[in-house]
Amino acid sequence: MAENNAAKELKEKLLLTRKNGYERTAADELKKISEFAEDYKAFLDSAKTEREAVIAAKAILEAEGFKEYKKGMELKPGDKIYRCNRGKSLVISVIGTAPISEGVRLCAAHIDSPRLDLKQNPLYEDNELALFKTHYYGGIKKYQWTTIPLALHGVIIKADGTSVPVSVGEDENDPVFCVTDLLPHLAQEQMKKPLAQGISGEQLNVLIGSVPFLCDGESEGVKLNILNILFEKYGITEADFISSELEVVPAFKAKDIGFDRSMIGGYGHDDRCCSYPALRAAVHCTAPVHTSVTVLTDKEETGSDGNTGLCSSYLEYFIADLAEDLGSCGRDVLSASECLSADVNAAFDPNYAEVNERNNCAYVNKGVCITKYTGARGKSGTSDASAEFTGRIRRLMDKEGVIWQTGELGKVDAGGGGTVAAYIANLDVDTIDIGVPVLSMHAPFEIISKLDLYNAYKAFVAFISD
Ligand code: MN
Ligand code: MN
Repeated sequence: MAENNAAKELKEKLLLTRKNGYERTAADELKKISEFAEDYKAFLDSAKTEREAVIAAKAILEAEGFKEYKKGMELKPGDKIYRCNRGKSLVISVIGTAPISEGVRLCAAHIDSPRLDLKQNPLYEDNELALFKTHYYGGIKKYQWTTIPLALHGVIIKADGTSVPVSVGEDENDPVFCVTDLLPHLAQEQMKKPLAQGISGEQLNVLIGSVPFLCDGESEGVKLNILNILFEKYGITEADFISSELEVVPAFKAKDIGFDRSMIGGYGHDDRCCSYPALRAAVHCTAPVHTSVTVLTDKEETGSDGNTGLCSSYLEYFIADLAEDLGSCGRDVLSASECLSADVNAAFDPNYAEVNERNNCAYVNKGVCITKYTGARGKSGTSDASAEFTGRIRRLMDKEGVIWQTGELGKVDAGGGGTVAAYIANLDVDTIDIGVPVLSMHAPFEIISKLDLYNAYKAFVAFISD
């Protein structure tokens, strides 16, 4: 018996245990977890595209007294500012009491998600059905985007330069759209194909109408009728599609998952389950020591290139402007800064256990996941946080009672992926990945845990407040 006790004590002292987060959550926190989840679901439903996420975030910021930043502004500790980059990315900042030369606390998350973009000449008619041609955005499993209700979001710039916002399929009374699939009865050949080839990119055509414009003998009457409806509703002609950004996204709303309502299913958890907690943390921390900078960025899903993605200089320029206005210099600020690169990780899925290495993967309900390095095939493309910075973040999380775990994306040879961490680390910033584990990542309906979501928020608050 004495020996058993000794082993037990030694185990407690020496072994790393991975308890379920609910066993480590105080009763009074359960209510906060569920309240946060309700706010988050509302954000998910109102912000399915990067443009809508920017609009929703700006509304929250302005309600909390954040002002649009103009270079040359007089700034003092406690000032709350933001800069919007072309309506698709946001940089948010609260000025700290410490000199900015001591660095900023950066949280970076993305607000774009995998979807189907309309091509620039999308509308066509085939055998008296009208359809939209699409070009998918980000890494999708194409078959998942057939036979589900789809909504259309975006913006059309007309010939005269005016901008027309579009959102169809979200209101209960709106129509929705759909990509069709073959009936099993006739799918003998399709079903023999590998999964990746079952549906091709050029088959992701969205069904949008079937009634012809009533005029005898004219061809393409269904297309004409659709154009007529669009002209009456938006005042657009076919040529206006050329200067549009129209995104096809799942039409369904976020829902609780499970009898215990412990999880949330929805479109765009990647990366709204990190960008929303980061936004809320930025708003919550109104008196930071170090200036906080929260970035909600676009284009992560296509590799972060382009002027709204984090491979561009917009973040660097923002820091440089801020530094100058506060009497310092941008590169000195960056070199002294620290960053949480907030992006999702894959959650262990019992259905597909073989892709994960069980000692080093993220689990649902074990908290926000800290990932020292990402990458694929030998850490290619990673920034790999230093042991020192990992240690600092680990101490901070434990001190602030954040429930966290560590994990990497799948088995070494199973594949891999990256985040914006490398692009921020390349600016000479200490950077580490952190995020919420997701089931069915990049699917039209992804799943996360409410406990993990709330602990992501706690992690960002701890980091900004430190
Ligand atoms: Mn992501
Ligand atoms: Mn992603």
